[in-house]
Amino acid sequence: MEKCLFCEIAEKRIESKIVYEDEKVIAFKDIHPQAPVHILIIPRRHISGVTSVEEGDRELVGHMFVVSQQIAKDFSVYQCGFRLVVNSGPDAGQAVGHLHMHLLGGRTLKWPPG
Ligand code: AMP
Ligand code: ZN
Repeated sequence: MEKCLFCEIAEKRIESKIVYEDEKVIAFKDIHPQAPVHILIIPRRHISGVTSVEEGDRELVGHMFVVSQQIAKDFSVYQCGFRLVVNSGPDAGQAVGHLHMHLLGGRTLKWPPG
């Protein structure tokens, strides 16, 4: 079973600022926030990224979106708006090989992204 930094965070072997958790996912504050609200939502189980998501992960991935709504409410960006980002591979700048959804908000976000 592959283990990585985010697996260690999910297992609480490495400290993080956890803002939400349930049996399937855990969410914590990004260590280098790019916006006033910058939360990472990850599955507890190791999935290395978007390109490793399988048919059987449909419910889990959908659950990550449902959880994002709750976090957006908790951090008061549900109404004013927020952005969900999932980087995949080198060109997108994926640095951690464990599926994670960035939830960014609390300021006006530019489009297109850099
Ligand atoms: P990505 O570039 O999409 O792979 O995003 C990885 C994110 O993980 C970056 O925004 C990092 O700031 C964040 N990160 C890396 N290590 C930690 C950590 N120990 N705790 C919280 N966030 C982290
Ligand atoms: Zn992992």
